[in-house]
Amino acid sequence: DTKDIKVLLLENVNLAGVEILKNQGYQVEFLKSSLPEDELIEKIRDVHVIGIRSKTKLTERVLSYAKHLIVIGCFCIGTNQVDLQFAASQGIAVFNSPFSNSRSVAELTIGEIIALARQLGDRSNELHNGTWNKVSKGCWEIRGKTLGIVGYGHIGSQLSVLAESMGMSIIYYDILNLMSLGTARQVPTLDDLLAGADFISLHVPETPETKNMIDAKQLEQMKDGSYLLNNSRGSVVNIPALIHAIKSGKIAGAALDVYPNEPAGNGDYFTNDLNPWTDDLQNLKNIILTPHIGGSTEEAQSAIGVEVSQSLVRYVNEGTTLGAVNMPEVNLRSLTLDEPNHVRVIYIHKNVPGVLGRVNAILGDHNVDKQMTDSRGEVAYLMADISDVKEAEIKHLWQSLEDLSSRIRTRVLY
Ligand code: NAD
Repeated sequence: DTKDIKVLLLENVNLAGVEILKNQGYQVEFLKSSLPEDELIEKIRDVHVIGIRSKTKLTERVLSYAKHLIVIGCFCIGTNQVDLQFAASQGIAVFNSPFSNSRSVAELTIGEIIALARQLGDRSNELHNGTWNKVSKGCWEIRGKTLGIVGYGHIGSQLSVLAESMGMSIIYYDILNLMSLGTARQVPTLDDLLAGADFISLHVPETPETKNMIDAKQLEQMKDGSYLLNNSRGSVVNIPALIHAIKSGKIAGAALDVYPNEPAGNGDYFTNDLNPWTDDLQNLKNIILTPHIGGSTEEAQSAIGVEVSQSLVRYVNEGTTLGAVNMPEVNLRSLTLDEPNHVRVIYIHKNVPGVLGRVNAILGDHNVDKQMTDSRGEVAYLMADISDVKEAEIKHLWQSLEDLSSRIRTRVLY
């Protein structure tokens, strides 16, 4: 029953998300901060659902006390704070919200393209320091210029639409063959993009292939007087090479939101102690430095709250793992639990030979309407909708599956 579901929300997760969980009738405990490990262990013993942000560390030790926990919601982008593999091995699904802030990043990028083209940061700094310096040399409209987007995913494609509506031509490079939006054009190689763009904006993930993707050689291939924007990950640009390219006048300006090493929190210093070239970067003209704020908007925060809470509700009520980061993604459409004698069986099990035969021998006593199974590493997830299970048989069905040696966790929803 939904009223029996206990939810613990830590770290002041967004209220839009809290409402969604409360509206389900779950028992929700909401705390503004994270908890010391011993208190966390005390609380996690009882709950079925936990919602956290980046400060709560759900290690193997902590999770080993979480005997009732079925799902973890990370109300943020990253999931490094959770031992994902251990969670999966205990049948605990983990969800996050990777794309709720795409629009915010794309809008920031638009703002920066114009700011770089007009040297806005420098003019504003000068006037803050009491100097009137009216300049038009080297300042440009963006209309008619070419924007080169590296990585045409959630953010890159949003940016494409926004920039086109302001009169820019768009070219993009991606390892996948993608559908171009508007009049954007995919180019076959990064070299083509580097040679063809007035502004280059990076929107690729952090992978071995994207490490120092923009290095001295690539900067050399860019147009004279072009601009570079990196709102993706700090590993993608070789910053000393960028400093050199700006000093030499090759690159007319840059915007950086992400860095190889970033301070732990607000108020921390951003100095050479962190990255040895910080001074040089700070002294350059026409370079916008922001503290990883690409996705930091009120809208993105509430979108994260809604997305993660909806994933949690779907998982608790229907067993759907779409979007889970540590489990195979399994879903069956048109759940019909309202109808008499309909149940949904969720059987999370070790991915070893012979399991499906044994499971189906148990399910086979009933009428299986639909069934889906998938695996990810050592964990497999089976979902089956069954239409002739009498209430008195549910317990037996559950117990028979629980008794199989492959079992990690069994749920029967009805
Ligand atoms: P996404 O997964 O939707 O898109 C990434 C795109 O890059 C995909 O189309 C993929 O095919 C492509 N790609 C991957 N490897 C590539 C390669 N080697 N060469 C060319 N293309 C490649 O991701 P997204 O949500 O658009 O995010 C893009 C980046 O922005 C990520 O690195 C993410 O971490 C970062 N991000 C930063 C902030 C911020 O605050 N600054 C906020 C959100 C996301």
